[in-house]
This record gives sequence, structure tokens and C-alpha cells, in this order.
Amino acid sequence: MLREPLLMLSRSARVKHLVTSMPVSKGVVSRYVPGESTEAAVDATRDLIGSGLHVSLDFLGEDTLDRAQADATVTAYTDLLRSLSQHGLSRNAEVSVKLSAVGQALPDAGEKVALDNARIIAQTARNAGTTVTLDMEDHTTTDSTLGILRELRKDFPETGAVLQSYLRRTEADCRDLAYEGSRVRLCKGAYNEPESVAFGDKHDVDKAYVRCLKVLMAGQGYPMVATHDPRMVDITGALATRHNRPQGSYEYQMLYGIRPDEQRRLAETGEQVRVYLPYGQEWYGYLMRRLAERPSNLTFFLRSLVSKK
Ligand SMILES: Cc1cc2nc3c(=O)[nH]c(=O)nc-3n(C[C@H](O)[C@H](O)[C@H](O)COP(=O)(O)OP(=O)(O)OC[C@H]3O[C@@H](n4cnc5c(N)ncnc54)[C@H](O)[C@@H]3O)c2cc1C
Repeated sequence: MLREPLLMLSRSARVKHLVTSMPVSKGVVSRYVPGESTEAAVDATRDLIGSGLHVSLDFLGEDTLDRAQADATVTAYTDLLRSLSQHGLSRNAEVSVKLSAVGQALPDAGEKVALDNARIIAQTARNAGTTVTLDMEDHTTTDSTLGILRELRKDFPETGAVLQSYLRRTEADCRDLAYEGSRVRLCKGAYNEPESVAFGDKHDVDKAYVRCLKVLMAGQGYPMVATHDPRMVDITGALATRHNRPQGSYEYQMLYGIRPDEQRRLAETGEQVRVYLPYGQEWYGYLMRRLAERPSNLTFFLRSLVSKK
């Protein structure tokens, strides 16, 4: 299918240059990324909260090999959290952090830098009355990310984890993390992974998602069901009934711009729904992953490129 070629294309410098020369406000980009500045992110957050939704904000950027860049990302998050607090939005808006954006990939002391930086963001989030969730990246980082999560949870047990059902290991990770107070986002997984560690067939990924969901919904933690898949949403509802889980003891999560009507519909039925809101200048990798998931968006995307000024 188109997923692999698109993910490969996303690593081409020429394609990147062409795509990033589009003004962000145009076409397909603004559908998935509401803006590049903190102000744009706060405005979009205010609108979503106003329509009954919760938010998790992601300052875009990943895989930095530059210490100054990692520190700048921390500053972006702390500025954002203070701004959310000042605008009275932090009760309903948390942040999602990619450890590779705050130093995990730096040579030598990368893990320590990432942990120290994550602590700064977690403390600022707590001061603002909200939380942090650590995004999960490609499989080479899973052990490191879960190790940093364990350390961080010693002081900040409210820190959220992310598990990806396409990884063969994830059902076991779900069992490990389904303890009381443990916030766990379950997603299918967005990276191009080898068969040795991940299910290649979409049907197998979906079946694994259901198995993981069963573990999390039966457990003592707080499942965060991150999917746009109507079947997974229905199964979550059935599992909540089976395990006597009241609304608010788990939540649904969807990406900004994807199935917004369904996001509002679920919220109107009393469910907690959180929208993942990415912002910032480094939107290219994020956009390519979204296009790889849904190649039908490509026509729209290519039209925007051709009509660019
Ligand atoms: C809140 C959130 C956080 C995430 N965090 C991470 C992370 O930390 N790490 C990571 O690897 N991945 C993350 N992801 C991405 C995730 O792993 C998937 O790549 C992505 O969500 C697509 O999977 P899906 O569950 O929506 O199902 P898919 O199998 O892609 O889609 C299933 C069905 O959902 C519906 N659907 C999907 N997309 C659309 C659309 N654009 N419009 C209309 N209907 C649609 C369709 O009915 C489709 O058949 C996150 C996703 C969400 C929602």
C-alpha cells in the first residue's frame, strides 16, 4: 500500500523542502496543525474546551541531536503551560511530550538529559494543575521511554504512558501498566516497524488493540483510548459496561482535525474526550505520518501543493 513509500518519502530532504515551503495556514496542513505559535495553540485549545472537549498539546519536533534545541523545547512547553494556566485552560488541557525532542537521542547522557527535562515539564504542569503524557516513538526507544516513565512516576505518578498495539510486546506492557492511578494511552502505532517486532497485517494490529483494550479496561488504571476507529470506540463502550466503569474512569482521544463530529458526539453523551493538538514549526514529520495513514487525503494535499503561491 502507500504507507511505506510515504513514510520513506518523508525522509527526503527535497520533498521536505517543497512541502515546508507551503504557508502553514494553507490547505491540508492547517487541517491537522492549527498553527505554529503558542498563541495559536492556546486559541485552538480554548475553542475545543468551549465545545466540551479536553486537550493534550504537542509542541512539534522530534529526534533532536542538539542540546540547545532540546532545552528550547522545554522552554516552549513551560511557556505553554504557564499560558494555559493564565487563560484558565489548564484544568482541561495537558501536554504530550516526545522524549526524543527533549534529549533522549543525544549521544552519551541522552537518557539523563531527557529525564531531567521531562521532570522540569512535569513540575511546571503540576504547578499549573495539569499533567504530562510521554508519547511513544519508534520501537528502538520503547525500553528507554518506559524506563524514563518509571523514574518520572516516582515523583510524578500522574504522568501518562503510551503503548502501541502494533508491537508484539505491548499486551505484556499493558499488563505491567494496568495498576491503580496509571494513565495509559493505547494507540495502534504510527511508525514504520519491522515484522520482527511488530504485526505487519492491519487486521492483526486491530486484534491486538482489542486484546490490549481488554487488559486496560479490566485493570485498575485510567485507560486513554486513542483511536478514530468506530469499532474500537464501540468495543470500549461494551467493555466499560462489562467492567462497571463509569464515564470519566477512562477517556477517548482523537487527533485534531480527525473525525471532529465524532469527538463532539461522544462528549455530548457524557464521555471524556481529549483532542491531541500538535502545534509549532516542525509539523512536517507529523503531517507525513497522518498522510501515510490515510492516503485518500493525498489528492487534497497534492492540490494544495500545486496551488501554492
Ligand atoms: C490521541 C492520539 C495520540 C497518539 N499518540 C501516538 C503516539 O504517542 N505514538 C504513536 O506511534 N502513535 C500515536 N498515535 C497515532 C496512532 O498510533 C495511529 O497511527 C492513528 O491514530 C491511526 O490509527 P486509528 O486507531 O485511528 O485507526 P486506523 O486503523 O488508522 O483507522 C481506523 C478507522 O478509523 C477511521 N478513521 C481513521 N482516520 C480517519 C480520518 N482521517 N477521517 C475519518 N475517519 C478516519 C476510519 O473508519 C478507519 O477505517 C496517536 C493517536 C491518537 C488519536
